[in-house]
Amino acid sequence: MDRELLLLRVDRGALRGLRCMACGAPLDGSRVLGYPHSGGTVVLGGTRLWAFIECRRCRYQNSLVGLGVDGGGVRVLGAERLGR
Ligand SMILES: [Zn+2]
Repeated sequence: MDRELLLLRVDRGALRGLRCMACGAPLDGSRVLGYPHSGGTVVLGGTRLWAFIECRRCRYQNSLVGLGVDGGGVRVLGAERLGR
């Protein structure tokens, strides 16, 4: 897989109550994106993904690592390719 961006459908339980690190807006409902990366903490079908939540207000890409979310606790239900 290349660096193609994926729109991730996740069990949002582990993501509840998070706020954007740039503007402070709640991230509930903001889309979760990711791309294959060896250092990723979220796993989809055996592939590690670097995942982040894109703030709906300011578009800042909040990485799960930066938000302090343990990616291993985030269950990916599906993914859709967004292209580049
Ligand atoms: Zn923001």
